Amino acid sequence: MATVEYRQASRMYDLTRPPAVNRLSLKIEDGEFLVLVGPSGSGKSTAMRMLAGLEPVDEGQILIDGKDVTELRARDRDVSMVFQSYALYPNMTARQNIAFALENIKTPKAQIKEKVAQAAAMLELEDLLDKKPSQMSGGQRQRVAMGRSIVRDPKVWCMDEPLSNLDAKLRVSTRAQIAALQRELGVTTVYVTHDQTEAMTMGDRVAVLKDGVLQQVDTPTHLYSHP
Ligand code: ADP
Ligand code: ADP
Repeated sequence: MATVEYRQASRMYDLTRPPAVNRLSLKIEDGEFLVLVGPSGSGKSTAMRMLAGLEPVDEGQILIDGKDVTELRARDRDVSMVFQSYALYPNMTARQNIAFALENIKTPKAQIKEKVAQAAAMLELEDLLDKKPSQMSGGQRQRVAMGRSIVRDPKVWCMDEPLSNLDAKLRVSTRAQIAALQRELGVTTVYVTHDQTEAMTMGDRVAVLKDGVLQQVDTPTHLYSHP
């Protein structure tokens, strides 16, 4: 668990255009579920990728637990990410996909087994562990991708439109599952979506981006009540 702070953080892909993320200042509390919402192209993914270390911060800083991580490599940040497209290794089983994250950091075998079993239980993946992604549905792949992302006990959990490739019914059930899992883990979470319903039902607070600029950040109740 951790706090996150963006301090006047900007990203300019192209100096002839306004910054994709423009002087973003935002504090995220320990254990909070923060949703970044806004139309396509508003800078949500870029803001999240800057936190994960997948995109440079051109101006300003990002702090995790009060520590400046702006110059740290992605793998040294303890931020894990779930992508819209799942990004599972196609030739590995679910078990291997989940374990891979731990083998990479030289976790002892017995501990890997235990961690994989834990993640599988939390996400109801037990029956999928020996299947490859091609043998799974989209929703099942997404659960494996989530398992892979939490198995290392990250300080910060990032999700970029994780439900957008699922059908409407599955989106609703997976929404609830992610929210419950986040509360169980207590992990500080940043969740990107363009869907207001997702923002409203999942976030402790919602940060609204437009053209790279933070418009407002508040609880769903405050944000979406129209007196
Ligand atoms: P969102 O996630 O809200 O859809 P993005 O962060 O993907 O927004 O994009 C914000 C802006 O930055 C858009 O104008 C987009 O075209 C631009 N952009 C995103 N990624 C790149 C990139 N790799 N190179 C150049 N411009 C990019
Ligand atoms: P999102 O779903 O986050 O809006 P997009 O579909 O816009 O993502 O972009 C997909 C990929 O293309 C991302 O890796 C993004 O960084 C890149 N990208 C987006 N806009 C541009 C751009 N204007 N120039 C170059 N790459 C871009």
